[in-house]
Amino acid sequence: MPRYDYECDTCGAVFEARHGFDDPPPPCPNGHATVHKLITSVPRVLLGPAALASKNASKEELRDKWAEESPKLRKKLVDKLGEEKVAQMGGTLNMPIRNDKT
Ligand SMILES: [Zn+2]
Repeated sequence: MPRYDYECDTCGAVFEARHGFDDPPPPCPNGHATVHKLITSVPRVLLGPAALASKNASKEELRDKWAEESPKLRKKLVDKLGEEKVAQMGGTLNMPIRNDKT
């Protein structure tokens, strides 16, 4: 028989139960009747920021991430090296930074 994970809607208890696919869900260990099946096939770790680095991240997501991160990286460099130095390095760093002053 397949095994299912359930969470109680009333008290939040998580428990396992073995029963047939078409059988009704069992009550929670504390006696509450309203429980819902937990979907365990989706690893929760993939729901965090790390998902952006996974192979499943789309190019759009990566681009957005880069657009978000690159100004921070640039600011770090400016803090460390100074604006003038970073401006000189701009071309060689090949960062997709828009310069609106053109
Ligand atoms: Zn319960």
